[in-house]
Formats: sequence, structure tokens, C-alpha cells
Amino acid sequence: MPLSGIWVFAQQKKGAVAHTGFELVALGRQLADQTGQPLTAILFGHQVKDAAAELTLRGADRAIVADDPSLAQFTDDLYAGLLAGWISKEQPQIVLGTASFYGKALFPRVAAIADCGLVADAGSVTIKDGKITALKATYGGKAYTEYTLSDKKTAIISIRPKSAEEAAPRGGSGPVEVRSTNGASPAMVTVVASEDAGVGTVNLNEADVIVSGGRGLKAPENYKLVEELAQVLGAASGASRAIVDAGWVPYAKQVGQTGKTVNPKLYIACGISGAIQHLVGMQSSRVIVAINKDPDAPIFTVASYGIVGDLFEYLPEITRLFREKLGR
Ligand SMILES: Cc1cc2nc3c(=O)[nH]c(=O)nc-3n(C[C@H](O)[C@H](O)[C@H](O)COP(=O)(O)OP(=O)(O)OC[C@H]3O[C@@H](n4cnc5c(N)ncnc54)[C@H](O)[C@@H]3O)c2cc1C
Repeated sequence: MPLSGIWVFAQQKKGAVAHTGFELVALGRQLADQTGQPLTAILFGHQVKDAAAELTLRGADRAIVADDPSLAQFTDDLYAGLLAGWISKEQPQIVLGTASFYGKALFPRVAAIADCGLVADAGSVTIKDGKITALKATYGGKAYTEYTLSDKKTAIISIRPKSAEEAAPRGGSGPVEVRSTNGASPAMVTVVASEDAGVGTVNLNEADVIVSGGRGLKAPENYKLVEELAQVLGAASGASRAIVDAGWVPYAKQVGQTGKTVNPKLYIACGISGAIQHLVGMQSSRVIVAINKDPDAPIFTVASYGIVGDLFEYLPEITRLFREKLGR
């Protein structure tokens, strides 16, 4: 059976499509238009038909929903079995997903079950010389690897959040098909409850602006300097592993190799040295501002703007100036 169609797998939280889903629709739409294939959005959840309609409003030709109370919360084995079953049956050429925490758990499993190719954590996907091509940072962002995808097997490409602008509403929605989950193997794990980790109102993965703090803050109570600037800018607050390990802030805030990979328009690093394990998680940010009193700190090798100085002097002043300027 020849491969056909471009799929995007959107995530939902509490029944609403995550912003990354609209980024995938924007990328998927370009691929679909360039290859002359239909674009299908996939959404798993409970009572998410209206949410799926929004994906068609923003550019998907149709949406397919798996609707069941057991899918309300992400469970990797259940989601993977279901998605792999659909892929094996319908053989799309490409499935785009998000390289979020969930995506990193889900897509390798799906690829193994459905015998697909996988490019994980790609930064872009385009058509080059008539072939679908994904670009991915390697060696901690020191090099890029280009993957040309074969047309023999479905390829799953997980895309780093914020790698594309969200698709805007176009007017005119497409059909939404709701499928039963009958036949899906029951999950080995049941999610009993889930709680937000109290990491603030702005999600690190989805933030346009992130203010992060490191050991240069000296004491846990000084993290409020980071939070104050984040609040004034409507930004998310992040952290280096040093202060997560020290128990100053929750793990959900950690940026880097063993934390979150972020891709905001602006990343402000305060009292962070810029160890390679931190840099790999944030160096693709569009603009990086670093405040560090050591002029030789490695963070300055990736910074667009650097302030060599004491964060206790600069950070409150920057917050005051933004507060004044933005009237917040
Ligand atoms: C396997 C592995 C995985 C790891 N994963 C991660 C990860 O995901 N994320 C991560 O962040 N790290 C990770 N690390 C740890 C990483 O190697 C560093 O130890 C860590 O990033 C250092 O955090 P830091 O920059 O806050 O602290 P430090 O390296 O101690 O840097 C503190 C900085 O603050 C500056 N400073 C001090 N006082 C002031 C002041 N008053 N004003 C301005 N600047 C000041 C100093 O000049 C210094 O540059 C990992 C390490 C390993 C081995």
C-alpha cells in the first residue's frame, strides 16, 4: 500500500489543544500543499471534538479524534498502541508530533510498534529536491544533521516546540471524525490524578520569553528576583540544574540536557555559568541575554547581549524599568 497523507498529532491538556498543535498544523499545511497530499490532524482525549474542529479551522483538511475517558490524560502505552494501530492501517507518509516530554515518551514507542522511521527533536522540516527533509541539531547544537526521508516507510518527526509560528484561523472548518477506541489494549498504567507542579502560569515549553536563574542567585529566597522579572514580562521562569538539585525550585523548571529543551524568542540567564548541559537546552533561543559577573563565563559564548556584572544590582533595576515601561 503506497504511503499517503500528512498527519499531525496534536496534544491536549484539560480538553484544549496545546499551542504546539497549531505550530504542527502550520508546518503540516506547508508540507501538504507542497506535496499535494491531504493534512489530517489527530487528537486523543475525552470530549475533544470541538477542540479538534479548531485544528481544521486553522488549516487541517480533516481531524480524527479518539474519544474515551481513558484518553483524557496521557498514558504512553495506551496512546502508543492506538496511534501505531492507525498508522499501520492507513500508512500516512509523514506524522508530525511535538518533542515535548510526552512526545519523547510516545513517538519512539509508536515507531517501534508500527515499524516507522523516526527523527526525534527536529528543528525544521521542509521539501528539498522533491524529498521531505528534517533538520536536527546534534553534538549539543554544534552541528546540524539533515535527514532525507525514505518514501518506503511512514516517518514520524517530532518537532521542537516553538520551531514554527502557530497556524492562524483561516475561516471554514473541516470534518471531524470521532473513532471508538474499541480494540485498543488496556493501559498498563492508570492515571489516578494529576496536579500542576506549581511552576507558574506560563509553560516553559510554550513561553515566548523565559527568565532563568542559577547558582549565582546565592540563596533560594533570591529566586524571587527571577520570578519578579518573569511576571512583569509575562514570561516563564526557568532554572539551571544546580538550583534544582539544591531544592530551591522544582524539577519542572529545569532547562538543559536532563531538563526541558526550550526555544523562546528571548531567554534571560541570570547567574548561570553556561555549562554545556545547560546550553543544549536553550541555545536555540532567538535572543539570549546573560547577566554574569564572570566575563569568561561560557554563557557569553552563546549570548546575543551580555551584562558583565552583579545580578543583585542589575536584575532589580531591569525589572523596575520594564515595570515602568510596560505599566505593570
Ligand atoms: C549528566 C549531566 C546532566 C546535566 N544536566 C543539566 C541540565 O539539564 N541543566 C543544567 O542547567 N545543568 C545540568 N547539568 C549540570 C551542569 O554541568 C552545571 O553544573 C550546572 O548547569 C551549573 O549551574 P549554574 O550555572 O547555576 O551554577 P554554576 O556553574 O555554579 O554557575 C554560577 C554562575 O553564577 C555567576 N555568579 C555568581 N554570583 C553572581 C552574581 N552576584 N551576579 C552575577 N553572576 C554571578 C558565576 O560567575 C557563575 O558563572 C548536568 C550535568 C551532568 C553531569
